[in-house]
Amino acid sequence: MKTMFNRWPGGHFKCLTLSYDDGVVEDRELVSIMNRHGIRGTFHLNSGLFGTPGRLNSSDVASLYAGHEISTHMVMHPFPTRLTREEILAETLEDRRSLEALAGYPVRGMSYPYGDYDARVIELLRACGIEYARTVRSTGQFDLPTDWLEWHPTCHHHECLTHADRFLETSKEPWRQGLFCFYVWGHSYEFPNNKNWNLIETFCDKLGHRDDIWYATNMEIVDYIRAVREVRSSADGTLLYNPSAQSVWLTIVKTGENCELKAGQTIRFPA
Ligand SMILES: [Zn+2]
Repeated sequence: MKTMFNRWPGGHFKCLTLSYDDGVVEDRELVSIMNRHGIRGTFHLNSGLFGTPGRLNSSDVASLYAGHEISTHMVMHPFPTRLTREEILAETLEDRRSLEALAGYPVRGMSYPYGDYDARVIELLRACGIEYARTVRSTGQFDLPTDWLEWHPTCHHHECLTHADRFLETSKEPWRQGLFCFYVWGHSYEFPNNKNWNLIETFCDKLGHRDDIWYATNMEIVDYIRAVREVRSSADGTLLYNPSAQSVWLTIVKTGENCELKAGQTIRFPA
């Protein structure tokens, strides 16, 4: 018998995250649009390319991406499957070290340069402490991945408006009780190249500052789902215990009530 449904922080069932690669100078404009609309995301950076034409300087990184997540995209933007084991380890760990010195926190996420990966790459990334990696394979869905190291996004930003209305309308489908995640990726240099800054402005305007969406970085989503999966229930389903270090939100099926189960808390509700 189903006793509860999982919710995102704040009791929402929808979450939005953006993911942008390469650390290019156009990220300044993108971040300012995102910040204005309360939208958050992750920036996958190549520390070996800072200061090269079109790229940000390392000194820009900490302040520009404050409130968002800094994540690895390997040092020199290689094709990961063409590297030796040693090169994969070096490209990943050296990028982590450089980015962590700027970010001030452990860098735990990644996006595959050129979307290039295979089983061998995944295994080595795990050994490097990488906990999720985004591909470039759009699903058109709002699902969460089975393996975080193969996190397929909903879409590239050129299709973001196509999916935006469907995402907003999912609130009209109460029979769908899953957790929805709208994941958009791209490169910010594509906006001036295609003369369509208005695309992301319109998208952020439509989806930003809403009270039914949780705005998160990629890593926050992974951490939250991990906490959700740790929730334990008693055999009769009347007790729920959250052993994790963060709050978990859920809806009690019987009462329809949304509740926050705090870190370390146990709650009881009628069978
Ligand atoms: Zn890239």
